[in-house]
Amino acid sequence: MQTNFTPAQLHEAPIKVANDILRNCVHCGFCLATCPTYMILGNELDSPRGRIYQIREMLQSGEPAPANTVKHIDRCLSCLSCMTTCPSGVDYMHLVDHARVHIEETYTRPLPERLLRMILATVLPSPALFRLSLLGARLMRPFKSLLPGRLKGMIAMAPATLPKADAVDLIKPAGETRLRVALLPGCAQQVLAPRINRSAARLLSRLGCEVYEARDVGCCGALIHHMGKEGAARQSARQNIAAWERDMPDAIAITASGCGSMVKDYGFMLKDDPQWAERAAKISSIARDISEVVAELGLDGVQDFDKPSVAYHAPCSLQHGQKNLDGPARLLKTAGFQVTTPKNAHLCCGSAGTYNLMQPELAEGLGEQKAASLDILETKVIATGNIGCLIQIDGYANTPVVHCVELLDWATGGPSPLNPE
Ligand code: SF4
Ligand code: SF4
Repeated sequence: MQTNFTPAQLHEAPIKVANDILRNCVHCGFCLATCPTYMILGNELDSPRGRIYQIREMLQSGEPAPANTVKHIDRCLSCLSCMTTCPSGVDYMHLVDHARVHIEETYTRPLPERLLRMILATVLPSPALFRLSLLGARLMRPFKSLLPGRLKGMIAMAPATLPKADAVDLIKPAGETRLRVALLPGCAQQVLAPRINRSAARLLSRLGCEVYEARDVGCCGALIHHMGKEGAARQSARQNIAAWERDMPDAIAITASGCGSMVKDYGFMLKDDPQWAERAAKISSIARDISEVVAELGLDGVQDFDKPSVAYHAPCSLQHGQKNLDGPARLLKTAGFQVTTPKNAHLCCGSAGTYNLMQPELAEGLGEQKAASLDILETKVIATGNIGCLIQIDGYANTPVVHCVELLDWATGGPSPLNPE
């Protein structure tokens, strides 16, 4: 694609990166067929190619983002299905990330929108505030019909009960230590489903790992990064890098693939920061999805019992973002589960970070479609690898939804996630 940035614009590092990405696009349109928002809305402006054009015009103009462009960029899920499809290797992820930063810096959103974004950016990365807000949402449930649309949806999403907070303490393996692994606590996950990291810790220690959660590691920054709040996202990254460096692990295992994609991108985020570039690249190089750590160690000690059939939902952040199409499904098969995958497995479930809160109608349509495609497989359980997908699908599906690591833990001697005590 032709671009016409001025030499002065090309001196800015992010514009130089955007220019290189834009020039890779040959406008072939292959990406349209796999874009969920184009499939639903049928408008080229809501397709990857349409968004790429709009981003080019917005950045080249050097003007504040126009309202119409903001609308179509906001509707993008950042699911990255278009990147998997693109034959020219267009790095849409870093292009739309930069577009979001430009929008955040130049566009004044209507007041209710700004307030909603401010609340989400404050509450979601803080487990204490998130827990408090979920408890508040439960109290508001009886009055939900009196609330405006988005707030009503947020109240409905709050779970009826919340598990006790439960961090993973240092766990040593029974025999020799093969690997020292730091688990990322995950801000929303540690409130909604602390059982996931407990399963991961048990499984990893059985496979010979020393497992711990590093002190002072907080939110990975993905939620605010997707809102274009780049300064705050970089600050989260620096804080986490420093926290891991205090007791450097061999690997950082991440059970929420949305967070995994973010930590794996710290090297790119901080590449122009002389003080942090090398340190960020090191942390990204040891970041792994939990399924990758288990695959590298080799799944051992599988117990022989009747295991239920499983429908595997591949999170977009894992299959498109990390290019790990079916690693967890292969591990589940090794563990003796009979695994199937749904039709249109490449399509997003509509969770996508805060998308189900910001774009509730589109998210609902995608959630219903995904749940139906999984339910129809008539398996005993649905398994996935990201807390956002787990909660979203659980809201629409009739089949119970668990994290893949809970099934792997069960298969090697842990408790059954289908009959929690
Ligand atoms: S598939 Fe790739 S090259 Fe073709 S229009 Fe989409 S982004 Fe551009
Ligand atoms: S990231 Fe997903 S929603 Fe956004 S343009 Fe690409 S395929 Fe479409």
